[in-house]
Amino acid sequence: MQFVSTRAERQPVGLSTALTRGLAPDGGLYVPQEWPATLLPTLNAGEALAPLAAKFLAPFAAGDALAPALPAISAEAFNFPAPLIALDGSRLGVLELFHGPTAAFKDFGARFLAAALARLRPGATRTLQILVATSGDTGGAVAAAFHGRSGIEVAVLFPLGLVSPTQQQQLSCWGGNVRTLGVRGSFDDCQRLVKQAFVDPSLRERWELSSANSINLGRLLPQTLYYVATSLAVREQCGGPASFVIPSGNLGNATACVWAQRLGAPIAQIVLAHNANRTVPDYLANGELRVRASVPTLASAMDVGNPSNLERLSALYPDAARLGAVVSAVSVDDDAIRARIRTDYERYGVIWCPHTATAAEAWARLSPAQRERGHWVLVATAHPAKFREIVEPLIGRPVPVPASLERLFRRPARFLEIDATLDALRGALAGAVP
Ligand SMILES: *Cc1c(COP(=O)(O)O)cnc(C)c1O
Repeated sequence: MQFVSTRAERQPVGLSTALTRGLAPDGGLYVPQEWPATLLPTLNAGEALAPLAAKFLAPFAAGDALAPALPAISAEAFNFPAPLIALDGSRLGVLELFHGPTAAFKDFGARFLAAALARLRPGATRTLQILVATSGDTGGAVAAAFHGRSGIEVAVLFPLGLVSPTQQQQLSCWGGNVRTLGVRGSFDDCQRLVKQAFVDPSLRERWELSSANSINLGRLLPQTLYYVATSLAVREQCGGPASFVIPSGNLGNATACVWAQRLGAPIAQIVLAHNANRTVPDYLANGELRVRASVPTLASAMDVGNPSNLERLSALYPDAARLGAVVSAVSVDDDAIRARIRTDYERYGVIWCPHTATAAEAWARLSPAQRERGHWVLVATAHPAKFREIVEPLIGRPVPVPASLERLFRRPARFLEIDATLDALRGALAGAVP
């Protein structure tokens, strides 16, 4: 299987190249060149995630250097569960994707990518430098996944003073091959610095540079697998297809679900739950794509005004009418997020993180007929303890902290403060890890 860019460049590449490059040379995103129609019928509901992943991913790695390592890579990436918890009979369940080391769904993709890239390093002449700009969640998952991998270093850039204390701890508790850089600037400054670094001749000479944001195909393929596995399990248990409500920002998780459906997984409806950043709901409602600056919300990992993976969805469904036939989208403001966290805690005893709460609210806004018709799955993207500063005052009690996060909270934190300039970034990368 080969992968092609969403843009002009149609030169197909294999899986290894797509993962190593992150972005295609023309600035586009890699997507599968074809959709193997015979894949889904070979997969069994109920099989454990790791062996299922190896089987599912095999056609995508066929002919590539990574193919023989796929079972081992899958075992590393899928070494924690993604349970589907019933909330309201067979009508409504919650897919908990937050049982990994940093308690968010990004652990799946980041761990798969790290396990794959690590296997491509022997024989490489230069160290791979992974640059990640983060507004909170991505940086922790990527740092955890790459921590201790030889031949690879990671630089996590976060905006100083603009992430919560809990998030800052997860970004800066690594050391070793992970540099955490607190940038005196905004998240946009961090992103600009990463983009500048990618085209900087002196940095490109010193390092092989790559990214681990959801523009990287290596994040999306493993995410596709949990939609396949969950929809097969729902069909087995309930006799019908699954419908998903997905908290969305850059649309990586949403694209993975659309890909699973495209591959023939039994998926009926897909609802994208956005926070007050309304770019996608507005695009589907009036057909016009108007990207804008992001606005800060309680569900900060979804504060995106120009979702990068819309380019992948548009490669399949080029206009709003066609995309709207496959997904719908709603926007949920902060007041509604707060109210939903309170209400569902009282009604079901569940504690949502602010992102998952947008999905719960989006489901509640469906018509009664729509809710009755399907087997709905709310995608829970993060553990509420990651956002305890927001959640605890709303439910009036402490959020229990999972063992994985306890471990991170106990590690010593250190990071380097830098100005928001390319010179400062160059200097930080040239020095030892603080
Ligand atoms: C990143 C993130 C999202 C948004 O996912 P996308 O793939 O960017 O749409 C939602 N919830 C949480 C907790 C996240 O960390």
